[in-house]
Amino acid sequence: MRILITNIGELTTNAPGAGSAPGASPVPGVASVRGAGSVPGAGSVPEVSPVPGADSVPEALEGPDPCGTLHDAAVLIDGDRIVWVGSAAEAPDADETVDADGRAVIPGFVDSHSHIVFGGDRAAEFEARMQGQKYAAGGIRSTVAATRAATDDQLRARLRGFLDEMLAQGTTTVEIKSGYGLDVATEERLVRLAAEVTPEVTFLGAHVVPAEYADRADAYVDLVTGPMLDACAPHSRWIDVFCETGAFTVPQSRRVLEAGVARGLQPRVHASQLGPGEGVRLAVELGAASIDHGTYLTDDDVAALAGSDTVLTLLPGVEFSTRQPYPDARRLIDAGVTVAIACDTNPGSSFTSSMPFCIAVAVRDMRMTVAEAIHAATAGGAAALRRDDIGRIAPGMRADLVLLKSPSRVHLAYRPGVPLVEAVWKDGVRV
Ligand SMILES: [Zn+2]
Repeated sequence: MRILITNIGELTTNAPGAGSAPGASPVPGVASVRGAGSVPGAGSVPEVSPVPGADSVPEALEGPDPCGTLHDAAVLIDGDRIVWVGSAAEAPDADETVDADGRAVIPGFVDSHSHIVFGGDRAAEFEARMQGQKYAAGGIRSTVAATRAATDDQLRARLRGFLDEMLAQGTTTVEIKSGYGLDVATEERLVRLAAEVTPEVTFLGAHVVPAEYADRADAYVDLVTGPMLDACAPHSRWIDVFCETGAFTVPQSRRVLEAGVARGLQPRVHASQLGPGEGVRLAVELGAASIDHGTYLTDDDVAALAGSDTVLTLLPGVEFSTRQPYPDARRLIDAGVTVAIACDTNPGSSFTSSMPFCIAVAVRDMRMTVAEAIHAATAGGAAALRRDDIGRIAPGMRADLVLLKSPSRVHLAYRPGVPLVEAVWKDGVRV
């Protein structure tokens, strides 16, 4: 079944020079490629400058288009793959044609950080925080109690509900972490349930020290790196740890990550969310795919990231929902750090599942250009998951695409909170 999506007003490929699949006619130079200089508002600088160094027009606006934008374009899908990308005027025949009517198409969002297997919620805690109470990592423990009490079917139904709402908002790939069980049996349930719906499963037994191990954190790390890892590794691809004051120290974090690596899992790290620390350098040293949060980064952290393959995953919903200061994405991107955007959907610090919302916040409050934010939410997420088959629209990639209701991706930030997704294809199937 070959499906042609044609008459695309603005196509975000994230693949400058995207040509054609074997067997299809290449169409170099047919579709016009515009630089990011065409991004509306590029010349204006907002009056409010909450981020240091934000007084000048971002360098990225003068550089190449990170989105590999094509206009008057078409995409051909065959089965679960993209097989051709080029000018609508040169599009090959297909079994079915979808007329985009001049609207924008982007890659499906890759949400590389979520915690969506849990019971209960923490609406009261959020309400109290909005009235002035500070966020602390220990709030996780209340979700642990609700999660342990929930049945597999209850957790599964909740999880599928979150996936449905994510898909409706354009997210076609999601990473899911455990971390609300904190005992062997419940952590095993969480990674097993997550593995039913995504290959991107992360064992996060070291999310916080559970109440029953208060003042015995090292004994809890023994459990995480021993029987809990034994139970969870078969269902997981990734090992993660919350390396932060109030959670796990750097030596404890190292033990967790190294134990996971020894079992064939790949590391990723929560760090520098609540204050500066050594988690970023630990992540880089161990070759982690991503360090997530990075709200408080030193110059040494930024330099270490820039010289590494470790992605910095920004979680704008967290700063929004906890009233923390936003990290300066401009500083990171200009230093050469690869940046991703993810939702961190969880009941405590960020209970949004909307990548468009996170993009809007990243553009407004982290000083990313719209093009950079869209790239970070798609290709950036793919890099954070070390995936080379998603996050771009090019021949050979998985057919994960989003047709917007708007003529431009800019509307995702320009019209915050408005549902702008017209249609979503995942693995070539319109959902
Ligand atoms: Zn998280």
